[in-house]
Amino acid sequence: MNVIILKSSAYKEKDGIIHCLSKDKTIDILVKSLYSKKGKYNSLNISLLRANIELNESKNYRYPLLLDVGEIDSPLPIKYDLKTTSSLLFISEIANKILPSDEQYLLFDLLNKCLDYLKRNIDPYLVDLYFLIEAIKYQGYDFDYDKCHICGSRKNIIDFNLYEGGFTCLNCLKLDQSACFSKNELSLLYDITHVDSLEKINEKYEIHSLLKIMEQYLIFIKDSLGVYINAFDLLK
Ligand SMILES: [Zn+2]
Repeated sequence: MNVIILKSSAYKEKDGIIHCLSKDKTIDILVKSLYSKKGKYNSLNISLLRANIELNESKNYRYPLLLDVGEIDSPLPIKYDLKTTSSLLFISEIANKILPSDEQYLLFDLLNKCLDYLKRNIDPYLVDLYFLIEAIKYQGYDFDYDKCHICGSRKNIIDFNLYEGGFTCLNCLKLDQSACFSKNELSLLYDITHVDSLEKINEKYEIHSLLKIMEQYLIFIKDSLGVYINAFDLLK
């Protein structure tokens, strides 16, 4: 079974539980000696690691037991790189907090896609923003990235409003409101939700635009879901 490990926690002495996502379920797995230096599988203690694993799902155990590990794919760059490491923490924290545990497996394909992007050296901040935008769709937030959320016009898009539902055109922007997003940021929002591959917009946008949009989404998530993403502080 192919899994992505989201996090691990201690369980009785040196054993551990790895919290994993597979294509069709979220699963907690008991790993013997996970926290022992001599443990055969102690390398599984890395968030967002991808692994092919074999389990013993006998009912005698409270958790399925890890029997064997095949191929492993570490998300960490060979050369230590703070930007990628922080970006991975950001992604795993969102995956862990944004959906209830039993629904987190829904993010499996999206996580795989983002880990592939990072491996292909796409800007980690662009990947983070992409993950954030796509992940909150699973909470039912479906914003209009095509047209004005009020009148449906595709012309004169001047703002984006998370609380009201998406792009806003010049005609529909309330008199007492001023636009929160710049033209460049609106173009980034359009591109990131429309390109078939992030390669096409890699390094097209400045880091401050990526962070500004991420911050707006995180404020929205905090207000709507009561979830605070600590790892964002590492990106700023
Ligand atoms: Zn409008």
